[in-house]
Amino acid sequence: MKVLVTGGAGFIGSHVVDALLAGGHQAEALDDLSSGRRENLPAHVPLHELDIRSGKAAALVEGGGYGALIHHAAQMDVRRSVADPALDADVNIKGFLNLLEACRRADVRKVIFASTGGAIYGEPQEVPQAESHALRPVSPYGISKLAAEKYLAWYGVHYGIRHIALRYGNVYGPRQNPHGEAGVVAIFLARMLRGEHPVINGDGRQTRDYVYVADVAAANVAALDYAGESLVCNVGTGRETDVVAIFRSLRATLGADVPEVHGPAKEGEQRRSVLDPARAARLLGWSPKTDIEEGLRRTAAWFASEG
Ligand code: NAD
Repeated sequence: MKVLVTGGAGFIGSHVVDALLAGGHQAEALDDLSSGRRENLPAHVPLHELDIRSGKAAALVEGGGYGALIHHAAQMDVRRSVADPALDADVNIKGFLNLLEACRRADVRKVIFASTGGAIYGEPQEVPQAESHALRPVSPYGISKLAAEKYLAWYGVHYGIRHIALRYGNVYGPRQNPHGEAGVVAIFLARMLRGEHPVINGDGRQTRDYVYVADVAAANVAALDYAGESLVCNVGTGRETDVVAIFRSLRATLGADVPEVHGPAKEGEQRRSVLDPARAARLLGWSPKTDIEEGLRRTAAWFASEG
């Protein structure tokens, strides 16, 4: 199948492109390169350098002959969403609607959407958090992702577009941008490799569900191949890891001589997040293959080789 991956030159999107090609699909990328990079993609993969909010992006979706849309392009900086909620909504809601309308017109019947577990559920009432957990986004970013899920459901009911919303945990791995605000693994690695010490926010006991990017890419291919009804599905490991454990593991892997330095806690930061991956296993036949130790080793090796 010919698939358009938005955000395809970014961290996760480029791994999705790799997995699609390995799975025998044809892939093209749409990306405005605001944080993505051409070098993340194999040279032969077409890259359409467009903003998802533009008429040209809609025309591409409409006229490109795609069998499915895999949507990863987003404003994904939580702090920026707090500073400028309208910009966040403009990209994450209106930009997505621009593409969904084009899907409707062109009869693209399948959409896979990169949603978020951490930012949609909020502080857990029970762990691990299943898809039925209360939805209490605490940032405009979480709200815009949830709104996008709701629009998807509406397009499903009204226009028969089948969709799978994948609610990711904290994705980490090669090609993650260490300059952003998200991605503690990438940020810590970049600093350690420069001989600087990373700063752990607060006591560092805040937990997340860290899921390796190749496993996330595999979940997208499983979602594409899935023939069932529309679905919302966690993509996580069910395992909680705290920031101090990440720090120590990376320090040991690199053999870095850096002290464990703590800074002030980030105001309002979520304390725990861990996703129940049972539905993905049951319906998509997907489960994570890479445990955190192995994933951190591979990620550290990649960052070290990038030099
Ligand atoms: P990323 O920044 O590497 O990828 C986003 C890509 O979208 C970039 O290549 C960027 O250039 C592109 N983009 C941004 N705005 C655009 C626009 N208006 N038009 C066209 N392209 C645009 O980040 P990522 O971590 O790979 O995130 C990919 C998706 O996964 C996002 O939707 C994000 O919300 C979601 N997600 C990520 C995580 C995580 O832990 N990294 C967790 C949950 C959900």
